[in-house]
Amino acid sequence: MSQKVIITVAPTGSIPDRKDNPNIPYTAREVAAETVRAYEAGASVVHLHARDPQTGKPSSDIEVFRSYLDEIRAACPIVTQITTGGGATTLGLSVEDRLRPVLELLPDSASLNAGSMNFGRVLFPNTPDTIELYARRMKEAGVMPEFEAYDLSMINNVEYWVRRQGLLDPPYQFSFVMGVIGGIPATPKNLLAMREALDPTYRWQAIGIGRHQFTMGAMGALLGGGLRVGFEDNVYLSKGVLAKSNAELVEKAVRIVRELGLEVATLEEAREMLPLLNRG
Ligand code: ZN
Repeated sequence: MSQKVIITVAPTGSIPDRKDNPNIPYTAREVAAETVRAYEAGASVVHLHARDPQTGKPSSDIEVFRSYLDEIRAACPIVTQITTGGGATTLGLSVEDRLRPVLELLPDSASLNAGSMNFGRVLFPNTPDTIELYARRMKEAGVMPEFEAYDLSMINNVEYWVRRQGLLDPPYQFSFVMGVIGGIPATPKNLLAMREALDPTYRWQAIGIGRHQFTMGAMGALLGGGLRVGFEDNVYLSKGVLAKSNAELVEKAVRIVRELGLEVATLEEAREMLPLLNRG
């Protein structure tokens, strides 16, 4: 029996801006409105970065994260996730500063980047000390880590630095981030290799960057994973056609999943399927 497919929306991110697509949300109200429409279209998890509401530049302001979460929580019951990585590459934040919004605002989940890499031209530092600290603190806070693996080696990092040390009980939730320059290229063979390297009891989703969003997403769904769409990773609906909204990207993901004969997980099903630490 095949698993239902969990769709995550990443509505804003920190890299593309309105020069790339004028529909990218910046303010709390805009991010919440985009999230609600994506939820209504079939997304059950939202992954958030903070932006300056005026300029759209990446922000480290915890009050921006708070305003996003407050507006979203008031508007719909979607599973919330905030980044601990975005500020490292765009703002050079310290390890503690990257984690602070997670511990203070207690989203359902937070990203936990599973290794250091060159993210484009920039060093993205996620040393074993950082991985261990984040795993420990997220467990204490009841926040589910979503391990972001940009390459095969990072799956092994989680096994070695988290599981073998007993910092967090498996199963874990992973994202395979495919197509960042500096990470594993977005090819079917590579996605299959990532999938086969993962403990089969874990949950995972495919994140294809740019034009790979729907190809990696479709293959992820076929292989039993979830998929992530949204402006953070891709601003196009199809070649040369900018998406009007995140919901439009979610609607396309839903169509693909259904055409493949699979079913999209409802919010309630997603909450059951995910290894959430705090189900209250
Ligand atoms: Zn992100």
